[in-house]
Amino acid sequence: MFPNFPFNRVNWVASGFLIATFITAVVGTPLYIRQFGLDWFQVALFLVYFILTGLSITLGYHRLFAHRAFVAKWPVRLSTLVFGACAFEDSALDWASDHRDHHKHTDTDDDPYNIQKGFFWAHIGWIFFKLYPRELPNVADLRKDSLVMWQHRHHRTVAVLVGFVLPAILGFFWNGWVGALGGFLIAGVTRVVCVQHCTFFINSLCHCMGHRPYSSRTSARDSWFMALFTFGEGYHNYHHSFQHDYRNGVKNWQFDPTKWTIWVLERAGLVTDLRRAAPEKVLLAELREARLQAEQRLAELGTVPPHALNCPNWRKAFDTVQELSAGFSENYSELERAVAEHVRVSGKRLRLWKAQSARLLEGIAELTRLQIAYC
Ligand SMILES: [Zn+2]
Ligand SMILES: [Zn+2]
Repeated sequence: MFPNFPFNRVNWVASGFLIATFITAVVGTPLYIRQFGLDWFQVALFLVYFILTGLSITLGYHRLFAHRAFVAKWPVRLSTLVFGACAFEDSALDWASDHRDHHKHTDTDDDPYNIQKGFFWAHIGWIFFKLYPRELPNVADLRKDSLVMWQHRHHRTVAVLVGFVLPAILGFFWNGWVGALGGFLIAGVTRVVCVQHCTFFINSLCHCMGHRPYSSRTSARDSWFMALFTFGEGYHNYHHSFQHDYRNGVKNWQFDPTKWTIWVLERAGLVTDLRRAAPEKVLLAELREARLQAEQRLAELGTVPPHALNCPNWRKAFDTVQELSAGFSENYSELERAVAEHVRVSGKRLRLWKAQSARLLEGIAELTRLQIAYC
């Protein structure tokens, strides 16, 4: 039926699990709710499990283990390893290895979830073809952590016991066998499907939906909308530009519950050494990208139509762009020097330079509008 399909390269266990849990969640859970209803205990258990396992992936697997964005004491490492296992996304060691490859080889064949191979591949397709055993040469640092290695050996047992059996037991104590079935279906299977697809969105949607304010060299994008579903990982363009920063939503107002949780854990003395990119470096990246966009848009304008030259509005817009462009170049050089010499620049000046770069892009947009109108 499919003569060219590489059946010999399919991981049948992972594929079977992904398909079976998905069907159970979309068919079994609604049938259960129709038959037995849905009480507050099942909803609360689902939410607690969803948050614990989701955060264990973003805070633990991703920012702590894959990126070493901060240092965590054993209670944080142990709990994120246990609840991270319950997301059924492999061991932290395996996950971090894939993720480091993703950052190192973004958008190329060596990127395990390369978006250039299509949305479906980046979202889930790659897991169907992930075969074991694997070498994992890029996680030597994590191998020194005995908790990480313990989880690597036992993550499937931990996942089944804590991810499926425990919610069923808690449901049993709440409402007998009906409660146990509900706990298994809702806080167990349905929650796994939800957490997995939220994580998978980071590899798929976050590489095709949103803006690229820090770098257009890779497909990674910033999207506040995606941040809502991914515990703050939607600011993926920033993350690809500054992968060791413990924040993905670097601006204070950006929705990043993972960043807030790490900050709270630091207050509680459970994590230390939070890594942050210097604000000067962040702005330099933004200005570099703004300069690139400005150059591209000016190049797109091409030759000026002769009658535009005689139009006072066009002339004024052109002069404004020239002036803003000169100011921008000056700011850019000063910032570049400051970053090279590790000189701190005040927040006020950084904000001013950012605003001036935005005005330059607005000025170019106005010039383009006028030029099109006069063409
Ligand atoms: Zn990415
Ligand atoms: Zn990352």
